[in-house]
Amino acid sequence: MTHYHCSNCHRPYPEDGSPHLCLHCGGVFSVDGPISYSQDKLDQDARGLWRYRYTFGLSKAAPIITLGEGDTPLAQAEAFKRSIHFKLEFLNPTGSFKDRGTAPLISELLVRGVERAVEDSSGNAGASFAAYAARAGIGARVFVPDSASGPKRAQIEAYGAELVSILGPRSEAASAVRRAAEGGEVYASHALLPYGLAGIATIAYELVEQLGQVPGCVIAPVGHGSLLLGLAKGFEALRAAGIIEGQPQLIGVQARACAPLWAVANMGAAGLAWMTEGQTLAEGVRVSKPARGDELLRHIAESQGSMLAVEEEEILAGRDALAGLGFYVEPTSAIVWGALEQVAAECPDPIVVLLSGSGLKAV
Ligand SMILES: [Zn+2]
Repeated sequence: MTHYHCSNCHRPYPEDGSPHLCLHCGGVFSVDGPISYSQDKLDQDARGLWRYRYTFGLSKAAPIITLGEGDTPLAQAEAFKRSIHFKLEFLNPTGSFKDRGTAPLISELLVRGVERAVEDSSGNAGASFAAYAARAGIGARVFVPDSASGPKRAQIEAYGAELVSILGPRSEAASAVRRAAEGGEVYASHALLPYGLAGIATIAYELVEQLGQVPGCVIAPVGHGSLLLGLAKGFEALRAAGIIEGQPQLIGVQARACAPLWAVANMGAAGLAWMTEGQTLAEGVRVSKPARGDELLRHIAESQGSMLAVEEEEILAGRDALAGLGFYVEPTSAIVWGALEQVAAECPDPIVVLLSGSGLKAV
C-alpha cells in the first residue's frame, strides 16, 4: 500500500481533514518510500489511469472521479537525426498532464468530505482542478496571475469555478491562496498535496508498456517539478517491484528567465543568486520556489540525468518545430525542443519527450 508522510518530520498524513502542509512542522507531504506497485493488483477491467488505482494509496471508500484521463499515445518522429518518442500528454481531458494528478486528488478530497476548495495555478492545474471539481460536485475557487493566458482563464470559468485574478507574478497568486487557506479554506494544492504524484507516476508505467522496455532518457518541463518527480517515482516503483532494472536519465527543462533548479543543479549554492521570477512565455513553469525541488534534484542526480535551461527566443521556435511534426503544444510545453537540441546527440535510446500542454491553451 502506498503511504504518505511529511518529508520533514516523517509523521503520516492525518486520517482526518486535508491539510496542505504538515500540521506539526509545516513540511511538505510526499510518498513514503517507493509507490507500492504489483502487477497482480492492477484493475485490468479499468481503462486509463484507474487501472493503476491500487497504487494511489487513496482511502478505501474514495470514489473513482474520471474524465477519461491517462492512456495517452506515444508517437514516434525523427528530430535532430534521432528517433524520438513523444508522449502526448496534452491529449488528456483538460489539455494537460495535470489531469493525472487531479483525478486521484479530487477523489481523496471527496471521500474526506470536502465540499469546496481553493487552488492556485498559472492556468493548467487550475483548469484541471476546476474540471474535476465540477465532475465531483466540489465548489472551486482558482487564483491565477493576471498574466495567465486567456484560453486557460476561459476554461476555468466555463467549468463553473470562481476565477480570482491576482496582479503580479505567479508567486503573488500563491500568496493570495495561502491567505485564503489561513482563513480556513481547503487548499487543494496540486503542488503541495501528495495524492497527485502517484497519478503522474502512471506515465512511467504506460511508457514501459508502450515501449516494451525502459526508456534511455526522458525529457520534461519543470516548474514545481511534479511531472518529472512523478515519473521518477513511477520508475522507482517498477524497480522496487522487480519489473524493470535500471532507470532512464531524467532530464528536466526550465526557461532561463526562471530557472531555480537548473541554477542550483549546475552551480550549487552560487545558483541561489538565480532564484528570480523573470518574465517568460513558458508561464506554466514560472515557479521561483519549487515545492519539491530538493526531492526532484536527488532523483535526477541518481538517474545520471541533468537540468537544462532554454533561452526565451528558443521557445516559440520550438513550438513551431514541434508543430512542424504535427504536435501543437503551448509555449511552456515547447521548451523541451531547445533541450532536445542540446542533448539529442548523447541521449541513450529510446528517447522519450513529454508534451505536457495543448497549444489551444495559448494565444
Ligand atoms: Zn512534519
